[in-house]
Amino acid sequence: MKFFIETFGCQMNVNDSEKVAGLLQAEGHEPAREAADADFVFVNTCAVREKASEKLFHTLGRLKQLKRARPDLLIGAGGCVTQLTGAPSLLARAPYVDVVVGTRNVARIPELVRQARETSAPAVDLDRKADSFAIPASAVAHASAVRAYVTVMEGCNHVCSFCVVPRTRGTEVCRPADDVVAEVQSLVGRGYREVMLLGQTVNAYQDGATDFAALLRRVDAVPGLTRLRFTTSHPEHVTDRLADALRDLPRVCPYLHLPVQSGSDRVLASMRRGYTRGQYLEIVALLRGRVGDLALSSDVIVGYPGETEEDFQATVELVEAVGFEGLFVFTYSPRPGTTAVRLPDDVPEAEKSRRLQVLNQAQQRRQGLRNRARVGERDHVLIDTVTGPGRLSGRTPHFRIAHLDGPESWLGQLLEVEITGAGPNSLTGRGLASNSLTSVSTVPIF
Ligand code: SAM
Repeated sequence: MKFFIETFGCQMNVNDSEKVAGLLQAEGHEPAREAADADFVFVNTCAVREKASEKLFHTLGRLKQLKRARPDLLIGAGGCVTQLTGAPSLLARAPYVDVVVGTRNVARIPELVRQARETSAPAVDLDRKADSFAIPASAVAHASAVRAYVTVMEGCNHVCSFCVVPRTRGTEVCRPADDVVAEVQSLVGRGYREVMLLGQTVNAYQDGATDFAALLRRVDAVPGLTRLRFTTSHPEHVTDRLADALRDLPRVCPYLHLPVQSGSDRVLASMRRGYTRGQYLEIVALLRGRVGDLALSSDVIVGYPGETEEDFQATVELVEAVGFEGLFVFTYSPRPGTTAVRLPDDVPEAEKSRRLQVLNQAQQRRQGLRNRARVGERDHVLIDTVTGPGRLSGRTPHFRIAHLDGPESWLGQLLEVEITGAGPNSLTGRGLASNSLTSVSTVPIF
């Protein structure tokens, strides 16, 4: 059987899709180049915003046409949306779907596909209590040959008013640290250079004996690992120990994604984020005091219920004050089952879009200026993508994208690069050690 997977969402969704691909390949199925060539198409979708949710149904609608021409085609739906929508509603809206899986049931996909094939009835597993870590690490088909995602915890114990994640992924469950370390050892053995630890609130990780800082220490010590990253961190769980780990551990990159969501205390309180604007700024000061050259990125929601122009300006000022390296701005979208859904969604859509644009434009200006100031500097780039013939791209320690010319054989290499050009979203550079790859691969840091 040939399969094709479409993924919409965060790194967690991507990692789930990698698991699905690996499990299907382990059963002898092959990846198809596109949906039209596949016998099984799996759509894995996030549900954080309504738009993302609707994407599932648009994609399913498209696949329905394909199925009309090829009735044998099996269609699967998974991810946060299926968990949120539930099988009866999903199948009522898209009765041609054959497999429905929840966020914690990915391991059962090969079996469900078999079942759907044999019975011609929809095969469904949305059990929220299933063990989502029951997949052997070796079965994960990582999309990148250089950077591997490793999910260390699932779910979230926070009660943010706007967020559907606790409903779609349940409460926090942490993988034992020994399993995480063993997986990283195996990844390094298979040639991966960088690992990104994933969790909805990854820095809340606690397996009983090991907290997140201790987990970082253990993973950092895995021989042969070049770089270690993690996402997403919640401000409430930024500790001294985490700041020390960021400063002291040689493989941990100086980059932290730390969603602030709003710069207004009134909005933060209504969002139930668990910190004030002042506390967030103190956390930033703690981190920057400890790790001098730390890149911070963030998420912001605009147009949250009751967000006034004054509240919005407080966000604009906070974003300016912190000077984020990257910013993801979202317009508020009411989600079923959240507490904010009961509040009037009273900021008009056009105003939400205006606020989004204001923040994005300011951010683009900031990034452009910053990146241009880097021209002439040198940095270490881990080459992770071949973007075209003789064209490569990779990331600096601070997670900045750098494009450069070079042979495909540089994939996975850590290059010293001179920055020769810059735009708001990426840098361009020249590999300095391109003729002496042996010395390149011995670059010891990042
Ligand atoms: N668990 C992570 C956290 O708490 O930071 C990531 C959650 S989500 C995948 C990524 C971002 O989507 C959030 O940080 C938030 O900015 C945004 N988001 C979540 N719910 C939203 C909603 N109802 N409307 C608009 N944006 C939302």
